[in-house]
Amino acid sequence: MSKQSKNPETIALHGGDYRSDPATTAVAVPIYRTTSYQFNNTGHAANLFALKEFGNIYTRIMNPTNDVLEKRVAALENGLACVSVGSGQAASTFAILNVCQSGDNFVSSTDLYGGTVNLFTHTLKKLGIEVRYADPSDPKNFEKAIDDKTRCFYAETLPNPALRVFPIKEVSDIGRKHNIPLIMDNTAAPIICKPLDHGAAVVVHSLTKFIGGHGTVIGGCLVDAGNFDWTADPKRQPLFNEPDMSYGGAKWGEVVPQLTGANVSFAVRARVCLLRDLGAPLAPDNAWGIIQGLETAPLRMQQHCSNATKVVDFLQKHKNVERVIYPTLHKGAVGERTKKYFSGGNGALVGIEVKGGVEAGKKFIEALKMFYHVANIGDARSLAIHPATTTHSQLTPEELLAAGVTPGYVRLSIGIEHPDDIVADLKQALDASGKPSLKAVS
Ligand code: PLP
Repeated sequence: MSKQSKNPETIALHGGDYRSDPATTAVAVPIYRTTSYQFNNTGHAANLFALKEFGNIYTRIMNPTNDVLEKRVAALENGLACVSVGSGQAASTFAILNVCQSGDNFVSSTDLYGGTVNLFTHTLKKLGIEVRYADPSDPKNFEKAIDDKTRCFYAETLPNPALRVFPIKEVSDIGRKHNIPLIMDNTAAPIICKPLDHGAAVVVHSLTKFIGGHGTVIGGCLVDAGNFDWTADPKRQPLFNEPDMSYGGAKWGEVVPQLTGANVSFAVRARVCLLRDLGAPLAPDNAWGIIQGLETAPLRMQQHCSNATKVVDFLQKHKNVERVIYPTLHKGAVGERTKKYFSGGNGALVGIEVKGGVEAGKKFIEALKMFYHVANIGDARSLAIHPATTTHSQLTPEELLAAGVTPGYVRLSIGIEHPDDIVADLKQALDASGKPSLKAVS
């Protein structure tokens, strides 16, 4: 029954094939700390390498602990297959490298995590892959940026700091007209948003954040929806239609559905080509740590979101707050998108402009007693940071503004503590931010 359940609370505990360990009947998912797997015979080994049979070969490419995590995240996202990798950054890198090669381009939203901007603008450029940025406030901007070398669209569901929900279906529809898949980073909105249900072809996650949830493990994954026809326009998707000489001339768009009976060419190619060649697997110990977090992620998301709503109400009334940024507070089409794409909560991320600009913002962060001042989001604990001088500090002033990072902006990731305690900490820090500093008094 659990296998068919669409309820995230059940999927997080029972999703995928795992019931108990086949060797020991252990209920908790074991950590398979092994690099390699004994083949039954030479024919078995050859079949595995030729993808005529699917099974374990080597932990750089697959591992049974990771497999449980992958199946559960795939089920949570309503996807068909998932590939785990060593970090969220590796997931974004693999997502692009799985569809683009030197000379190709892709169109990305301007609303992005700073690390992703660096990857796209600088590192991928050195590999000959061009990013073209499109402002998501008008989905047509994505269409305007396409040419015959455009291989995918990329965006974040709930990008911080602007916290403007992305027009998933609008952009996915444009992409599908041109056989261009939409890849969505859903790191900030697991469970409350399902991009694959709205037409995205791939979801990537930093599992480090809400899914792991305890600030203990770095990890990432790519989820293949199985809803994109990679063979519909061979010129548009050469990596899925031209023979891959690194794998006996396989045409991934054709061969994977033939071998597996499922439209999971994206996931299989990412696993058997990119994990094989670039490495960056998720260590099984880390997969296990993320599985522990995943088991309670649906419950935590409820508490994160309900606490964030209370925090937003409080902040809007405080005299030292200039502006509150939260998905539901945006006006017009952007605000409407929150209703359209989110259910069960509006996220845990809240932005504030403290009155008094950068100095007041810094004072506010330093006065926080319970919140941690860290470069992370999605921990069970409440977190705060000043993006302009930290997470986004490598961006140019123009890039900062495009990403919605003003000098005084403070990003809060609301945890699952009691809401009264969260509000009390914010209140005392905001009160302190408005007081003249000792230096000014003397
Ligand atoms: N995507 C988003 C939206 C993020 O916030 C982050 C990290 O902050 C990443 C990707 C990268 O994830 P990781 O730190 O696991 O590499």
